[in-house]
Amino acid sequence: MISRKLVLRFPTHLVDKPIIYRLVKDYDLVFNILKADISPQEEGVLVFELSGEPQAVESGVAYLRDLGVHIQPFSEDVRRDEDKCTHCGVCVVMCPTGALSIDRTTMLVSFDSSKCIACEACIEACPPRAMQIRF
Ligand code: SF4
Ligand code: SF4
Repeated sequence: MISRKLVLRFPTHLVDKPIIYRLVKDYDLVFNILKADISPQEEGVLVFELSGEPQAVESGVAYLRDLGVHIQPFSEDVRRDEDKCTHCGVCVVMCPTGALSIDRTTMLVSFDSSKCIACEACIEACPPRAMQIRF
């Protein structure tokens, strides 16, 4: 069993289709909706955690892609506002993966989004709210 957090963007013609139902029924997947912003006639955004056997998760994601749903890992939506960051270093100790690290020579904090697992620990910790999740 594996889990993946994903951000799905549905084009308007797919918003009212029973896509999630098919994921559960045809691919035997379990999902947990973290955030949903879906309204008729507009692009829909759904953030969810998909769980199941590895092959089933891959097949389910391929099914979504084939339909035209745009998919990105949740971690890609964690961003740093470079104008707000004061390089105070508070987030570095909070980050469990080393996505946020400090250069001991320059004392500047860098953000490597490829290491981010979107745990959100830095979001609340950052004094000037430089770390953000965008949907
Ligand atoms: S806590 Fe916020 S302001 Fe401080 S280094 Fe991290 S991102 Fe920058
Ligand atoms: S969301 Fe979590 S993993 Fe990503 S940068 Fe912030 S503390 Fe690190």
